[in-house]
Amino acid sequence: MLRGVLLWSSENEFLARRLPRYRFVKRAVRRFMPGEDLADALRESSVLSKTNRGTLLTLLGENVNEESESTEVVQSYLDALAAVGDRSLDVEISVKLTQLGLDLDEAVAESNLRALVEASGKLDRMVWLDMESSVYVDRTLDLYRTVRADHANVGVCLQSYLRRTPEDLETLMPLGSAVRLVKGAYAEPPDIAFPKKRHVDEAFFDLACRMIDALPSVRTAFGTHDAALMRRIQAVGEERGVDRGRVEFQMLYGIGVRDQERLAADGYRVRVLISYGSAWFPWYMRRLAERPANLTFVLRKMFAS
Ligand SMILES: Cc1cc2nc3c(=O)[nH]c(=O)nc-3n(C[C@H](O)[C@H](O)[C@H](O)COP(=O)(O)OP(=O)(O)OC[C@H]3O[C@@H](n4cnc5c(N)ncnc54)[C@H](O)[C@@H]3O)c2cc1C
Repeated sequence: MLRGVLLWSSENEFLARRLPRYRFVKRAVRRFMPGEDLADALRESSVLSKTNRGTLLTLLGENVNEESESTEVVQSYLDALAAVGDRSLDVEISVKLTQLGLDLDEAVAESNLRALVEASGKLDRMVWLDMESSVYVDRTLDLYRTVRADHANVGVCLQSYLRRTPEDLETLMPLGSAVRLVKGAYAEPPDIAFPKKRHVDEAFFDLACRMIDALPSVRTAFGTHDAALMRRIQAVGEERGVDRGRVEFQMLYGIGVRDQERLAADGYRVRVLISYGSAWFPWYMRRLAERPANLTFVLRKMFAS
């Protein structure tokens, strides 16, 4: 029930305006992001690189209502990419299509995405498309396929909680895709997504095996902090003699840090997703919903100092 309340809060505009003003909320969010500015994210990216961890950079925000807002988002990412190039950092960007204008006009979102893919291509970096709620899946995959036809440096996220995902994965593999598999972070009805966590976990494992079988023609990334699941995936990779450097684990900044370090030291590819920007409220509520025990952390910050 708590998960439902937190996911509901993530879509509540009143709360999104009010809560971020409180200092204790700001303090609590620090656990998941180094700061609101690009400079904070890039500084942390340099630190991560010392232990062989790359970065995924994401500018927080979703569902823009004006084309001008999406232009600003693109410009921020272009500035970020310029800084990444200047400093030769191992950073890729991860974007939401609704932040690039998908709700306004698909052509706008496509042209914005192309601008980012082309700029990233010049640096030999990938652009990852996040997967948002289920109403966006078809449009995200369509746009992914269209842009992927012209550029190899674009990847997409698939969610194991969706009943449709095995079929989507099969259609993407012949494109030599880059796929990040995650469990899924949105509130979805049971006819669309598995309601039970153990079914979501098993679906993740089955999809992961399929992706490992498709190596090296599919770039394979697993976005999870589930240590047991990661161990099972590693075991499958070992069993099938897969080069560890081709198996990538992507995790959120501040979560599973010991696993991140261990995996990188063991020769797996590791990327840490660092979020920056001021629009962190819905994103933060989804992080709390993933682990309601995090609420005790927020409460502690509330009563600290
Ligand atoms: C790199 C990356 C990109 C993502 N992109 C998307 C996307 O595009 N679309 C989408 O729907 N979802 C995305 N997600 C979120 C994802 O769907 C899950 O909601 C999230 O990863 C939690 O699931 P889990 O696999 O870690 O497993 P869980 O079973 O939820 O968690 C396993 C363990 O990880 C730890 N943990 C997990 N979450 C947290 C947390 N918030 N705080 C503290 N500890 C935690 C806990 O110890 C927990 O027991 C992404 C996740 C990652 C890591």
